[in-house]
Amino acid sequence: MLLNPRLVKESFAFIEPAAVPAATYFYGRLFAESPHLRGMFPPAMDVQRDRLFSALTRIVWSVDSPATLASYLGQLGRDHRKYGVLAEHYSAVGNALIATARRFAAEIWSTEMEAAWVAAYRAAADLMIEAARSDEGVAPAWWPAEVIDHECRTADIAVITLRPAQPLPYQPGQYVNVQTARWPRVWRAFSIANAPRADGTMRLHVRAVPGGWVSGTLVRHTRAGDTVTLGPAMGGMTPSHDTGRDILAVAGGTGLAPLKAIVEHVIRSGHRPAIHLLYGARRTGELYDLPDLDRMRAGYPSLRVLPVISDQPGYDGVRGRLPDVVGRFRSWREHVAYVCGPSAMVNETVRRLQQGGMPLTRIHRDTVPGEP
Ligand SMILES: Cc1cc2nc3c(=O)[nH]c(=O)nc-3n(C[C@H](O)[C@H](O)[C@H](O)COP(=O)(O)OP(=O)(O)OC[C@H]3O[C@@H](n4cnc5c(N)ncnc54)[C@H](O)[C@@H]3O)c2cc1C
Repeated sequence: MLLNPRLVKESFAFIEPAAVPAATYFYGRLFAESPHLRGMFPPAMDVQRDRLFSALTRIVWSVDSPATLASYLGQLGRDHRKYGVLAEHYSAVGNALIATARRFAAEIWSTEMEAAWVAAYRAAADLMIEAARSDEGVAPAWWPAEVIDHECRTADIAVITLRPAQPLPYQPGQYVNVQTARWPRVWRAFSIANAPRADGTMRLHVRAVPGGWVSGTLVRHTRAGDTVTLGPAMGGMTPSHDTGRDILAVAGGTGLAPLKAIVEHVIRSGHRPAIHLLYGARRTGELYDLPDLDRMRAGYPSLRVLPVISDQPGYDGVRGRLPDVVGRFRSWREHVAYVCGPSAMVNETVRRLQQGGMPLTRIHRDTVPGEP
């Protein structure tokens, strides 16, 4: 059966605007046909539905970029080991997915389209299954990790240091999914805020969102000595191979975490680029990591840290929204950029950098959806 990216994309354009009902239908169908799979998922399915759709969107739109897709599906396959997903579960998921596509793209559905979806799903599932299989025996499906330090930096933000029981390999800029004992089967992504260390410890910067299950638990109900569970490292915003260029890092809120890991890595690497780190918050009290950044700067004078405050009229430093400040500050045309924070801020900053002449290939980005 032949892969036909055009037909998959064409039908997905019909499904995408109906993201919520389509994801609800998908899970309803999956659990009706395979009730034994329900136990792998959390009681509340809202975040799961969003995740399904963002993963599906990403897969469909990169279906004709095999290298990007293979790397993403490999990460996804390895990550799914932590849920207890086995090769035989994939056919049930495939049946529910294709039934969903058939229903929500009914207006244009055809035999060829169905064949294109079956072939695309088969190829994606094979990549995930293969990645999970080659990970078995090499890495655990999940890592218990002890909380060895818990520091409340503001009323809502904690910096948490973890020691995984076994080495957890990762690259600077990646994130891990975290499960707390309080909310079994509820996993949330948090960026790792340091470059890999010899002792294997890792730091997370966590903002408690209002009513947030995992973030609230991590900030307010977690102490040194507690244990959390981690999935494997994921994410593609890793240090650029273009090491000859100066660096611009633009961080909104806890979007600072992965950028700090990348900056730490670059400083240690022995390349000596100039690094500008623009660190945005609404008010000065939210700049929860300035003392640490000052320490980094003291050890590496080519690092310039520029706090940017958007919502405090009396502030006498740089004021404004991060994308505006990036746009008016100077030319970044020759730099490599890393941008992380809320999605609106990231999209707008990337747009400004492109307008200023920076090619998209030199802009590395990730979003922190929990950020306001
Ligand atoms: C790749 C990636 C990396 C991430 N890295 C980090 C990180 O380093 N640090 C970090 O703190 N978070 C990070 N996040 C966000 C994190 O994964 C969670 O989404 C966030 O902590 C909320 O999870 P929760 O379980 O506490 O809230 P949920 O239980 O999922 O949500 C509870 C309620 O709060 C709402 N809600 C969610 N966000 C907000 C908000 N900002 N304001 C108001 N209401 C909100 C939800 O819609 C829901 O109604 C990252 C996310 C991704 C995808």
